[in-house]
Amino acid sequence: MSHKPGTLTGHLGREPARYHGAVSTPVYRVSTFLMPDLETLEDGTAPYVYGRRGTPTSESFTTAINALEQGAATVVTPSGLAAITTAILAVCRAGDHLLVSDSAYFPTRNFCDRVLARYGVQTSYFDPCIGNGIDALFRSNTRAIFCESPGSLTFEIQDIPAIADVAHRRGASVLMDNTWATPLYFQPLAYGVDLSIQSVTKYIGGHSDLMMGYVCANPSHAERLTHTHGDLGLFASADDLFLALRGLRTLSRRLPVHEQNGLKLARWFSARPEVTRVLHPGLDSDPGHAIWKRDFKGACGLFAIELKPLSHAALAAFMDGLKLFGMGWSWGGFESLITPAHIVRTARPWPGDGTVVRVHAGLEDVDDLIDDLGQGFERMARLL
Ligand SMILES: *Cc1c(COP(=O)(O)O)cnc(C)c1O
Repeated sequence: MSHKPGTLTGHLGREPARYHGAVSTPVYRVSTFLMPDLETLEDGTAPYVYGRRGTPTSESFTTAINALEQGAATVVTPSGLAAITTAILAVCRAGDHLLVSDSAYFPTRNFCDRVLARYGVQTSYFDPCIGNGIDALFRSNTRAIFCESPGSLTFEIQDIPAIADVAHRRGASVLMDNTWATPLYFQPLAYGVDLSIQSVTKYIGGHSDLMMGYVCANPSHAERLTHTHGDLGLFASADDLFLALRGLRTLSRRLPVHEQNGLKLARWFSARPEVTRVLHPGLDSDPGHAIWKRDFKGACGLFAIELKPLSHAALAAFMDGLKLFGMGWSWGGFESLITPAHIVRTARPWPGDGTVVRVHAGLEDVDDLIDDLGQGFERMARLL
């Protein structure tokens, strides 16, 4: 496949000739596929057998993802979190030990600490910047390493090839939540990851109107992934699959705008006296910048800032009056968002003492976003 991503995302998984020339694969709302005869019913050779096991709409999506990720099998789930839990369940069994990055998405930690623990899988957390030092944390029963790079809220970049190298020498699997970069800006499987996880809810959906996830496996993990997914009874809705495909068609054109707007906001924040630190791996000054530059093709629009310690009233004065930034717990849509970040760390304490605020740069004109934030700082100043 020699075409560039901007071409691929427009064409992958489309077969208009199968659908009367319709450019996009239609929404197949179906539970029951009728079989032509008893033999086909019994031998299971029909291309589609039951709604949960795959439809033309889901096949269109998974075909596109397998090509983008260069993977052997993709499964779809009703949310990104369900993709995370499916990937973990595909590799762990009772008695195993799992290593999870300390800056993983918080609900990932809840699943490990509350659900996995009940089924006899122990989790320990590691410094996201540990690199090949992860070797020292291995136990005889360590089954898998769960990475997320950059990490949620604090954006540490992980040395995935170094971690994967140690894991594979020790016979463990590597799982990675790649929602921040999407398969266009980082290719987990090419860097040694076995199961690549994506919250489709974010950039692939891109319009804040669907919940969905996927896991894509390399050949050695394809069978355990598809069996676990099937046994758990997971799938995604026909409408959400359709919207995910629609989002995918413009992903390669939206991401560079998110990236440019995000970098421009990050640089602007860096020069503000109210800001003590900007957490964005695309900035030269960021501790993860060298590895990010080595491994990633770009940055999305999500990053964080740390404000000098301030009162809750001053923070509210800044945030409440913003006209273009919404306050909501998601990201990856066309619109800009801002939320305070609550950082939980158990492997290594978070060094900052200020208020961390997460920013999502949407597709608006960035100068308008800067004006909006500047007015916010003026309101804040009156209360400092
Ligand atoms: C939002 C998010 C998820 C979960 O996705 P949902 O679709 O909301 O379940 C997983 N990982 C990261 C990094 C996220 O930000």
